[in-house]
Amino acid sequence: MKSINKGYINGEFVTLHGSATFDLINPTNHEQLGVVTLGDETDVQQAVAAAKQAFKSFSRSSIADRVQLLENLQAAVSKKEKELTEVMIQEYGGTRQFCAMSVQMAISSFSSMIETLQAFEFQRKAGHTLVQLTPVGVVGIITPWNASNNLICNKVATAIAAGCTVVVKPSEMSALQTQVLVECFHEAGLPKGLFNVVNGLGNVVGSAITNHPDIAKISFTGSTVTGKLIAKSAVDTVKRVTLELGGKSPNIILDDADFEKAIPMAIFGAYMNSGQACVAPTRLLVPKSRLEEVNQLAKAAAEQVVVGNPGNDSTNVGPMVSGKQFDRVQQYIQVGLEEGATLLTGGLGKPAGLEDGNFVKATVFTDVKNNMRIAQEEIFGPVLSIIPYENEEEAISIANDTTYGLAAYITAADEGRAIRLASQIEAGRVCVNGFKHDPLAPFGGFKQSGIGREFGAYGLEEYLEPKSILV
Ligand code: NAD
Repeated sequence: MKSINKGYINGEFVTLHGSATFDLINPTNHEQLGVVTLGDETDVQQAVAAAKQAFKSFSRSSIADRVQLLENLQAAVSKKEKELTEVMIQEYGGTRQFCAMSVQMAISSFSSMIETLQAFEFQRKAGHTLVQLTPVGVVGIITPWNASNNLICNKVATAIAAGCTVVVKPSEMSALQTQVLVECFHEAGLPKGLFNVVNGLGNVVGSAITNHPDIAKISFTGSTVTGKLIAKSAVDTVKRVTLELGGKSPNIILDDADFEKAIPMAIFGAYMNSGQACVAPTRLLVPKSRLEEVNQLAKAAAEQVVVGNPGNDSTNVGPMVSGKQFDRVQQYIQVGLEEGATLLTGGLGKPAGLEDGNFVKATVFTDVKNNMRIAQEEIFGPVLSIIPYENEEEAISIANDTTYGLAAYITAADEGRAIRLASQIEAGRVCVNGFKHDPLAPFGGFKQSGIGREFGAYGLEEYLEPKSILV
């Protein structure tokens, strides 16, 4: 059993001032993996002081120095690729396939930020005026438990490219993965105080960060509920905020698509990261006239999904991260039944033989109305809603009828038609014919899915303040 009792402040592993602890439980079998000591306000004060001091010189560092640091980080994280993958599988039950991909994305966030940085214009002209883009200051980074390493790497890479220093508060449920990552960062030889980490609870360490007057910006990824709290608390010190929040992404299958391929792909997509993905396509929109055919294909595909030990190569859906998350998903399945949606497959209870972990049956509801709670609220588990539409216009209207706007998907034989529809969708990312990620393209949400963008030049600008110099 691992004990993580130190934070990372000013380039050193330091004993935290806080003394409360949080048990780290393997969601696959409920065995205790470790325990993490939770920091407090004093730890945040120390971390921010170190980051503030480091900002004085790092904000003036050259592009070449920043590129070198990003290269060092990429090399250090690459060395621990396998260890990171294994720890992720154990700690939150992500499937081997998903965790390996997530670590790959973490590593590539450094190379794509190097590419962005090398092409970026930090000095521009606006009218007759010189505009300098200057680093915003100390950045507070607050991350969720899902895809935690990948999110930390991307946010820290962007901060470094901008010339900012950071204080990171990872999810308390990701302490083991973060520890491996921090060891990589330590090895990379960053300037002291540039990168600091304080483990702890959201309402203690998180809120000490969002309230701290010496933090200029918060970069947050997590639920919409928490994002709203963070935005409210950041307003007192007029912090810049980037919020990457939840989603309820539509997946529109157009009538000219190859249903034999598109429907199974939609099922496997909805269950990405065991359904615990912000961009998961959880609302499958299909032509009403083809609903019977869709139901048959969806049922057959969902029943092929392998729910089980996330460490096995063949597993598609692992356990929910915690008992609390398992209960939440069960409650939503109950809600779906009560709302009168038709249960196509899956349902309440654990799959046979998997009673020791937080496993949920791969579940599909059909004939769902878009105003039902299962179609409107983020469930964060392997539960898909099939929603029929009459025509293209109604498909777009249903797709946009949500408070969220993170991602959307369109499958069609005619790509031009799909792109035309994409321009009517209210979401920060629309993928045509597949699930795609481009680390140079902006990523973020419309509506209540967030504020601001991450990745590439758009992401970098969020860490910079434009300054006009009028002569
Ligand atoms: P969460 O909102 O519960 O927690 C996220 C982080 O915020 C954690 O570190 C938590 O400790 C901290 N926190 C909680 N209360 C806080 C407060 N009052 N002040 C400051 N910090 C606080 O989210 P979660 O359950 O860890 O993650 C799942 C959610 O994250 C889902 O809603 C998912 O859609 C979202 N998510 C979004 C993206 C994206 O890019 N848009 C990516 C991954 C996850």
